[in-house]
Amino acid sequence: MSFDAQIITLFPELFPGPLGASVIGRGLEKELWSLTTTQLRDFGAGKHKNVDDTPAGGGPGMILRADVLAKAIDAVSGQNDPRPALLMSPRGKPLTQTRACQLAKGPGAIIICGRFEGVDQRIIEARQLEEISIGDYVLAGGEVAAMVLLEAVVRLIPGVLGSEESREDESFENDLLEYPQYTRPQEFEGQFIPGILTSGNHSKVKKWRRQQSINLTRRRRPDLLKRQS
Ligand code: SAH
Repeated sequence: MSFDAQIITLFPELFPGPLGASVIGRGLEKELWSLTTTQLRDFGAGKHKNVDDTPAGGGPGMILRADVLAKAIDAVSGQNDPRPALLMSPRGKPLTQTRACQLAKGPGAIIICGRFEGVDQRIIEARQLEEISIGDYVLAGGEVAAMVLLEAVVRLIPGVLGSEESREDESFENDLLEYPQYTRPQEFEGQFIPGILTSGNHSKVKKWRRQQSINLTRRRRPDLLKRQS
């Protein structure tokens, strides 16, 4: 079983972009996941293949048309397609590691990238789109957001990362930030690797790391600790 990502976008040439590099790109070559892009304009209305129009009620910018988006979504999703249809949107639920894990265990995702002022509300309701945000700021389009989402998800697919273990202690797994990491040289500009880490005492190392994680999370992201209790 592989994770099948289907992107609907006005800029398919942006893909795979960074998703073609390193472990994520190798996963694509090894067919641990797949990526298909669909040009939204192919489903545009009329001779000029219009995909957008001015906002009802006035205001700046252009809105992607619901009927055009519906045609594109319906063309790419199979009958009883098990994949969730996601809309990248600053109004969406913030992306979390938990949601990334759930998606990674599933059959894939149909991802719609917005542009301009956004999309007609009726398509969100008609196709039950799950709106996902990658943070509290506004991008020019959903493509980079879709790449962020896919990169977070694909690295969780078994076989994509070298070692499965390397994920267990990571930031946000267990709602904690990762402890500080060190490697050679032993001394760097007068700073030394904390002695415990070179002591060879594995249980002490484990305890120290956990304590560091808790301290760091308390200082930087107390909201994560609150989520735990
Ligand atoms: N007028 C909209 C913003 C449109 S930005 C608003 O105020 O909510 C254009 C497109 O970029 C959006 O449709 C969305 O697909 C994408 N986008 C922008 N910011 C994003 C974010 N933080 N997370 C996910 N997608 C985002």
